[in-house]
Parts: sequence; C-alpha cells; structure tokens
Amino acid sequence: MDLFEYQARDVFEKHGVPVLGGVVATTPEEARAAAEQLGGGTVVVKAQVKTGGRGKAGGVKLAHSPQEAEDRAREILGMDIKGHTVHRVMIAAGAKIAEEYYFSVLLDRAERRYLAMASVEGGVEIEQLAVERPEALARVAVDPLVGIDQAKAEEIVDAAGFAADIRDQVVETIQKLWTVYAEEDATLVEVNPLVKTEDGRIVALDGKVTLDGNADFRHPDHAALEDAESADPLEAQAKEHDLNYVKLDGSVGIIGNGAGLVMSTLDVVAYAGEAHGGVAPANFLDIGGGASAEIMAAGLDVILGDPQVKAVFVNVFGGITACDAVANGIVKALEILGDHATKPLVVRLDGNNVAEGRAILRAANHPLVTLADTMDGGADKAAQLAHAAAAV
Ligand code: GDP
Ligand code: MN
Repeated sequence: MDLFEYQARDVFEKHGVPVLGGVVATTPEEARAAAEQLGGGTVVVKAQVKTGGRGKAGGVKLAHSPQEAEDRAREILGMDIKGHTVHRVMIAAGAKIAEEYYFSVLLDRAERRYLAMASVEGGVEIEQLAVERPEALARVAVDPLVGIDQAKAEEIVDAAGFAADIRDQVVETIQKLWTVYAEEDATLVEVNPLVKTEDGRIVALDGKVTLDGNADFRHPDHAALEDAESADPLEAQAKEHDLNYVKLDGSVGIIGNGAGLVMSTLDVVAYAGEAHGGVAPANFLDIGGGASAEIMAAGLDVILGDPQVKAVFVNVFGGITACDAVANGIVKALEILGDHATKPLVVRLDGNNVAEGRAILRAANHPLVTLADTMDGGADKAAQLAHAAAAV
C-alpha cells in the first residue's frame, strides 16, 4: 500500500524524522483554516495524489497568506494529475530552501537485500538523474540483518558526498528513516527533496512510503491508512472473499484457476478480441486451486457486478480439484446466484475428469452456459458474445 504524502509525513514525525507542520484539507475553506492554524505565514499547498511530479504538474504552490492558501487550494482541488483526481491538499509550513537532496531505501528483490540511494542533487527528476548522471546517485547495499546503523549511514552519506556542515544531521536523519522502514515494515521510503533550510537544518520535505501488505497482521494501525474512498468497490468485494481480483477496462469477465493460467487467458482473450471489435478482458480473477461452489459463486458475483462485463469466460484446468467438482461448482454457483446471473458464460474445462465435468454441464443445460473445447475457442466465443451484447 502506497501512502499519501501527508500520511508519510505523520509516520516520519512519529519516528523522529525532522518534518515541517502539515495539515490536510479537502475544501478551500479548510485550507484557509489550516494556513491560519500553521501561524498565518507562508505555506505550501500540495496536491495529495499517489503519483510523483506534482510540482511540475502545478500541484505544489506557495501561498503567502491564508487567503492565498484558500485561492491556491481552490485551483488545485479537483485537478487531474496523471489520471489522479485531487481530493485533498496538504497545507505545509513553508521552508526556506537552501539545497535539495535525495534519499531512499527500498527492497532489492533481485539481490535479496535492501538498497539505499542518496544524492546531493535532489529535487524533482531523480529518474532522469539516474539515467543521465548515474555517478551523482550513490547506491549502497544494506544488509537486512544489520540495517542502517551509524556506520552504514556514514557510508551512504560519504558515498553521496554530503558537505561537512550537514554530515552529522544527515547521518542521524537517515538512521531515523531506516527506523521508519524497519518498524513500519515498508518496502520503500523515499524523501525527495530532503532539504537544507537557509538556517542550516535538515528537513524531509516530501515523503513517499510503501507499506508491505504481507506485514499488515503486525500493524493493526495500518488499516486506517487505507484509502477507502478511491478503492474500487468490486476489488473491495473480492478482497472480502479472499479472491485475487484486479479490475481492468474491457468487457470480457475472466475466471480461472492459477495465476499463470489466468494471465495467459487475459492474453488469449485480448488477442481473440481483435477480431471482435477490439473487446478486451474486464478483469483478472484467480479462484485458486480448490475451486468450491462457494468460491465460484463469489467470483462470478463480483464479475457480474461489473456493469462493463458483457460476457464471461471461465477457463479452468482440473488438477487436484477435478473438472467434475468444478462443473458442480459452476452449476451450484448459478443456482446460488439465481437472477443475479444475467450474462452469457463460456466454460472451458480441461484436465482431470474432463469428460465427467463436461457431462455435468451438458446435463444441467443452463441457458447462459456455452461449452468450449479449447482455450482459444472459448476466448473467441466469449469475445464474440461480449461484442454482440455491446452492440445491442
Ligand atoms: P513532487 O513534485 O510531487 O515530488 O512534490 P514535492 O513535494 O517534492 O515538491 C516539488 C518541489 O516544490 C520541491 O522540490 C521544492 O522545490 C518545492 N517545494 C516543496 N515544498 C516547499 C516549501 O516548503 N518551500 C519551498 N520554497 N519550496 C517547496
Ligand atoms: Mn518530491
């Protein structure tokens, strides 16, 4: 889970990372009140969206009075930044910046350890710096068993070439940022810019934090950080049933067992769709190995609840759960759903007990169900049905 900047700021503060005051606001009036609360002086109005480059997009603006803060908030709220609508702004105490630096620590899966990166040339485009002048971005491996202790912090700071006057402060700050990383179970903590103020203080001015969902059980407080308002309702429904579901943009609903099979089903449907008006997959849904009737019903219910779905392709390879059990699951699921099942279903079964499975579906003779012999054939049929339904 990615945090909003204001949430990252709060987490930084909790762990003693130097930050400036910040108050979140959802209306121009709240922005004005927040600016007053911060002392009435210069503030920065910052769009809260989970994407970078807000500054360049016009989503970060200085305001010299509460009135200006209100005006800037009115401009920024509702803005679209790279496809993200701005629903909130953070009113941040203004910093007088002397220099901008960069620091991050992240999970390096390929190397099975952590990686710290730091540069004295922080600010906006770190990706560009990494490509154009890689020598300006220090990359230091971090042993997961040791973390960033005093010695490691000094190694990072010296590799990046921080000046002597701020060295100790930066060494201390990045150890605090490591505490955030380790104690909150993050997979990314990035500060860009980490700044030196005109009066010589080091402050984390922008924070990006990604928390590891696998560690949620250790952090009951993290649930409150979830952005319920912009969560997709179908994804939320799927999550309640422990289904691996990802909403996509097309009109062919997909159910399969096993992530690999579902991924290739998406490809095959996208390919077949080219011959049928360009229809595409509506979702990824892996119902896993033990596809019981209840799981099948829960999965179908999620997919049929998507108004964009015009037809569904069920592509199951019988393994430990044999095809007859899957077929019974589909028949039962359609019974459970009753009038909720409204869209055509193309079913392709193969593998263990395939003949029995197909016989069960043929005997049930459900008006919505079409049997397909092959994956390609099923994808083609489902794409054709989705295209035909969309044309009505
Ligand atoms: P991003 O563009 O999404 O990474 O947003 P940032 O929070 O990093 O802001 C972009 C830039 O705005 C920073 O690199 C700073 O130059 C500037 N900025 C942000 N906060 C302040 C502030 O408090 N005072 C001043 N003067 N500039 C700021
Ligand atoms: Mn930034």
